[in-house]
Parts: sequence; structure tokens; C-alpha cells
Amino acid sequence: MKMEHPTPMQWQFSQRAQQLQSSVIREILKVTVRPEVISFAGGLPSPATFPVERMQAAFDKVLSQQGKVALQYGPTDGYGPLREWIAQSLSTADAKILPEQVLMVSGSQQGLDLLAKVLVDEGSKVLVETPSYLGALQAFSVYRPEFVSVPGDEHGLLPDQVAAIGQGARMLYSLPNFQNPTGRTLPLERRLALVEACARLGLPLIEDDPYGALSYRGEPLPRMLNMNPQGVIYMGSFSKVLTPGIRLGYVVAPVPLIRKLEQAKQAADLHTAQLTQMVVHEVIKDGFLDQHIPTIRKLYSDQCQAMLDALEEFFPAGVTWTKPAGGMFLWLTLPKHIDSMKLLDEAIADLVAFVPGAPFYANEAEHNTLRLSFVTVPPEKIREGVAKLGKLIASKL
Ligand code: PMP
Repeated sequence: MKMEHPTPMQWQFSQRAQQLQSSVIREILKVTVRPEVISFAGGLPSPATFPVERMQAAFDKVLSQQGKVALQYGPTDGYGPLREWIAQSLSTADAKILPEQVLMVSGSQQGLDLLAKVLVDEGSKVLVETPSYLGALQAFSVYRPEFVSVPGDEHGLLPDQVAAIGQGARMLYSLPNFQNPTGRTLPLERRLALVEACARLGLPLIEDDPYGALSYRGEPLPRMLNMNPQGVIYMGSFSKVLTPGIRLGYVVAPVPLIRKLEQAKQAADLHTAQLTQMVVHEVIKDGFLDQHIPTIRKLYSDQCQAMLDALEEFFPAGVTWTKPAGGMFLWLTLPKHIDSMKLLDEAIADLVAFVPGAPFYANEAEHNTLRLSFVTVPPEKIREGVAKLGKLIASKL
């Protein structure tokens, strides 16, 4: 039985929901998935790196040996052996991390939401880098903070600016390794200075680190977490070192904050899928990542170099770009008069795509910037796409 002529609903969305917007990137991606478009727009890791067979074998093993546990509800803080593995992998000689400091989350994106949920009131000051990860700005925006942009340069944010603007803020969100979107890395002395500046202010410092393992040359710089485990909230993810489709990340923080985040997570989704946590533990417990990560680093490093070479070859004077030491992105600055949002329409007509830089700024945007990802496009296509973009930009000079 169905009502004959129901009147269409007039949806009265909450004020909070009115803050929500679709990510500009996801909108752009809808256009750029066309196979004829050479897309440097995506933020996706390369599927060539996904260990499909290994995952399949682990699913089989977990289901056949521990199926009843894997398919049951699990604890909110996460699967114990995986939390222990993470705590151990993040511990250093002078800063031991305990399993009870680790909360498993459904992708580190959920961690961003939960952190803002428990730390930010409407109008609270939240310090962010300029530019910063769009998905974090989007997650925090729901809680209607006042974003304060920390000034920075090509090496990342300037810690000596934090003391002046951080008074009374609720958190500082930072991306020290191969930042999304710029690819830049915060130098060691700035890390130390930032940890100290935040500690002095009693300001929680978020260290979002999904790309840290993807260093092209040697080990990444020391984590800020280990410089002050009492004041730094570390966020990790399996998205870039295994696969993003399993939606598995973690937050590491002092226990009182973890307990509060756990309550927020309980309300949100009870817990992260037990099955995927057990499978990931099965995959990584015997050192798989130590062999696997170097293959990702090699692929991304080669493709990064292909893009840097092509930029050198095809781009006109007046355009500058970052030279990442790891990760998935580089960042371009065009002459001031070129608005990359407008350039994108012409680029797509020419079958090449990128992400305009403006949405990555919490406050005043620089419209002459853009982000390029090099990880999902093979080197010959990188060359072809960069040549097209270079020609287009040259025509504007
Ligand atoms: N932080 C940063 C800086 C990211 O780039 C991403 C994904 N693009 C995330 C967090 C979210 O990652 P996930 O939810 O897949 O763990």
C-alpha cells in the first residue's frame, strides 16, 4: 500500500548540515575519470601497489581460522594485536607508545572528524597550515571553528608565528611529511620548535602523517609524536601503504583524549570493522610492509622524477614548483594573473586535469596555485600531459 500523491518534503537541514559542501576535488574527479583525460587531479594511490593476492590470502586465513570473531562486533578502541603492533612500530628508545594510546578509526579521515568533535566548539580557534589538506578543512568546518592560517614558506609552517596567534586555540593541524597538497616537508629544527611552541601554549598539536612512509630517499625525519607524546596527537593510515578501500587508520594520543575520542567513535559507528583490522594485522605482522613499502617508494619516486623532468622541459619561465622528497603530490605556482580555477576548464577541454589550489586555503586563497599528482599516470602520459599544460600556460603569458 502506497500513498497516492505525497507532497514533496521540504527538508529543514540543521545549521551544522548547512556548513557541508561537496569537496571540490570529488566534483572535479567526476569529470576527470573519462579515460581520454590525463588526470593529475586525483589524490588516489596507484592501484598497481595494492597487494591483492596477499589480502585475499589473509581474508581466507582469518575467516577460516577465526571467522566467528572476525564477523562479530568488536571493541571500540580496535583489535588488540593490531593496536599493539602500531604502538610498537611508533615507539622509540626514549618515547615508548602504549597500545592504550592507540585508537583504530575507519580511515584517518574519521580521526579528523572525531578530533574536531571532541576539541572544537563553534568559534574556537583552529590553527592550520597555508595551504592545508582540503579534507581536514572540510571535516573541521562542520564544527564551525575560526580557522587561523599559520604563515609558512616552501619548507612548511613557521613555528615562531605560532606563539603570537596560538593563544587560546584548541588545536594546530600539521602535515610534516610530503604534505598534501604541496609535497613539502617540515625540517627537523622546525619540528622541534613547533613541538616546543605548542607545549608552551598548552596547544594540542596534530601530526597527520599518511605519507611519512613514502620517503624517496632514506627514512623520514623524526616524528613530532616522539618529541612530546604528551602534547602531540599522531594520525596514521593504511591507505597509502596498503589500500585505501579497507578504510583503516589510527589516532595516537594521551590516554584521557583517547578515552574521549573512543566515546565519540562509539556514538558514530561503534567500532571499525573487525574483519579488516584482523586481515591487516595478518598481512603486516611478519614484516610484509618492510618489503612492500620500498616498491611503492620506487614507483612514486620514478614518476615524480618523470614529472619534474617534464616540467623542466615544457614549462615556461615564471612558473615554479616544489620538489617533493616523498609522497604523491607537487605544487605549482603560476604568475599572479593566472587563475588556476579558470585554467582548469581550458585544460579539461585539452584533455588534461589538475586540482586548482584555492580550495586548500582556509582563509585568503592564492588563486595562481595548483596541485599535481603523479602516482597514477605512467611516465609517457606524464610527459604528454605536462607538455599540454605547459603550452596552455605559455599561451597566457
Ligand atoms: N590526511 C591526509 C593528509 C590525506 O591526504 C588523506 C587522504 N587523502 C587523509 C588524511 C585521509 O586518509 P584515510 O581516511 O584514507 O586514512
